[in-house]
Formats: sequence, structure tokens, C-alpha cells
Amino acid sequence: MKDRAWLELSRPALAHNVALLRAQLPQGCDLMAVVKGNAYGHGLPAAALELCRLGVHDFCVATAEEGAELRRQGARGTILVLGYTNPSQFLLLEAARLTQTVVDADYAAALNAYGRPLDVHVKLDTGMHRLGIPWQEGETLERIFRYPNLRVKGLFTHLCADDSQDQEAVDFSREQIRRFYRAVDGLRACGLPVSDLHIQSSYGVFRHRDLRCRYARVGIALYGMLSTTEDTAAYAPGLRPVLSARARVGAVHTLVPGEHAGYGLGFTARRPTRLAAVTMGYADGVPRALSQGRGAMLLHGVRCPIAGMVCMDQLLLDVTEVPQVRQGDAATFIGSDGGEIITACAVAEQCGTIANEILAHMGDRFQRLWVE
Ligand SMILES: *Cc1c(COP(=O)(O)O)cnc(C)c1O
Repeated sequence: MKDRAWLELSRPALAHNVALLRAQLPQGCDLMAVVKGNAYGHGLPAAALELCRLGVHDFCVATAEEGAELRRQGARGTILVLGYTNPSQFLLLEAARLTQTVVDADYAAALNAYGRPLDVHVKLDTGMHRLGIPWQEGETLERIFRYPNLRVKGLFTHLCADDSQDQEAVDFSREQIRRFYRAVDGLRACGLPVSDLHIQSSYGVFRHRDLRCRYARVGIALYGMLSTTEDTAAYAPGLRPVLSARARVGAVHTLVPGEHAGYGLGFTARRPTRLAAVTMGYADGVPRALSQGRGAMLLHGVRCPIAGMVCMDQLLLDVTEVPQVRQGDAATFIGSDGGEIITACAVAEQCGTIANEILAHMGDRFQRLWVE
């Protein structure tokens, strides 16, 4: 099971993160595990099944197919589809007993017109302007609550600037929360049963500990980090990364000064050089932006820079400083080896993105192993 390229997924780290997050939540607030994007690359349904074993029963997914797969695998709690589902899949929503997000007023009418009861959570747009009913539209909300075929089980919003510490962003998040509760109060004043509320995602769990919601929709923190190294250190230093990504050394070469390597003569040896060809590339999720020394991998506990351009299925490492490297050795792209570690956040910084994207790109060719 460690043939070419594989992900080692740490059961103890996941259990630790679940416990740490639960300890942050107020009484009566449950984790809704966000497992969209193939569980941030960790693998569906396996990651969700591990979470079930840890007593997490409610999930958020991006698509109806992801939700249906979870249901088939035995998930019994709420499965909330966060995104738009085309009416051609309303049957799937019903059959898999999924909970659909109401993304706007017309969509509520379309869900109602399906003709049979569907579970929904209504999303309020409190300023992100991606999905949701504008928070001020009390009458629209009331109408949605009264549709005969919509079983409104929850009401939620998404804080879109909660990962920033800029004063403007901090004020904006507070304003979003205030708008949300204004709408909730309006509905309650009309005698409408407003049930399960949720606002926070990973950042919110750490930044808004005073909120009393039914759920927190937590993704990246479950997997052991926030989106950047800095934020993880500032808010959630106790989280433990779940995923390590490793691949084999496929071949080792010696170059004399002046020789090139890789596509476009991307690497030129300035000294007698040893290169290792490693069995992972951009089709596996290694960003091509890490080419030419911007990224590195660990071999025998030593950081080895990427030489030349990352290829689709392979990449070259400069292993001149690690003479013991042999064909078949395991190289680490994310994770630790000896005393060295490369985090998903560090990889993300090297290519100008966030850890979420690096993880979500971990491809289908990785074998995924849960380890103790
Ligand atoms: C992706 C997503 C989340 C989870 O966000 P994290 O920052 O990964 O915890 C929560 N809510 C919504 C609506 C999302 O789209």
C-alpha cells in the first residue's frame, strides 16, 4: 500500500483535533464536519467514517453526490449540501435524505415545487454575496418558512472575512453576526420556529467563542491547521496535521557541471550534482509553481530542493547533500521526516495560496492509509 505515492492519515491526530475543537465549543453546540473537496483531499468516504467513529455525525458537503455517497456508507445524521443543487438532482436529495441549502428566493420556490417534502437549511446573505437570502428581506424569509414542502431545519450564514485581523474585516464579521441575529429576531417575532442556527467555520470557532449556536461548520481545523502558518500559530497552535504525503525515489542520476535536467533545460548543474526522480507530480497535486527550487521535499530527514520543472507524474530533487539516497526510498512532500517538517501551510506560502487549496488538490492516485 506504499507503492508509488501515498497519504498517511493519522487517526490519533484527527481524534485530537476533534477533541480540541469540541472543547472550544459551548455546551449544546456540535461539530458539523465539512468534508467537501474529498474531505480536503483526505479522502471520502473514509475520512467521514473515521469522524463517525469519533462521534461526529453531522456533515457538510459541496454536492448532492458527495452527500449521497456518505449516506450510502452509513452516515445517519444531518448531511447539509452547502452549494446549489440543480433541480434534476432533487430526487437524489430526497432519496438520500440530504438537507439542501436554500440559496435564494427563486430556489426556495423551485424546491417547494418539487412537490414532496425536502429538508432544508436557509442561508442568509449577511454580506458575502455568494449565496443566501438577503438578511433584510424579512417577508421573503417568512414566505420560505411557510412553504408546505420545505422542512426548514436550520438557518445559517457564512463569515467571509473572519480569517483577517484587519480592523475593517473584524468590524465586518461583527456586523455580519449582528445582521444574522436581526433576521432571526424578526422571524421569531412572527412566531416562526427558527431551529438550528450556525455561523462559525474553523476561524469562527476560535475567534467568536461567545456565540451560542447549534452547530459549527468546521473544515480545515479538523485536518489540523488554519489556512496559514501564522494563523495556526496565533489561534490554534494545538492542532495536529492529519495528512502526510510521500512518494518513492524512482531513479538517481549524477550530473557533471554544465549538464541540464528536466523540461525546458529547467535545471543546470553548477557543481557535480545528484538528482533523484520522485514519483509524484502536478497530476497528483504538487503545484508546478514549486519548480526550480521554490519547493522542496524531505529525504532521510534532509530538505532537498526541487530541481527544474515539476512534471505531470514526477519531479526531480537535488540530493547532492544526501549521498545515501537510493531508488525506492520514500520522499516527503508534506509531513515530517527525521527532525524536519514541511507543513501544508508552508507549501501554500511558497505558491501564494492557502493550505486548503494544497490539501484539496491531493489527487486520486494517492493511496490513502490510516495510521496509528
Ligand atoms: C468550506 C465552508 C466551511 C468550512 O470552512 P473552514 O474554514 O474550512 O472551516 C464552512 N461553511 C461554508 C459555507 C463553507 O463553504
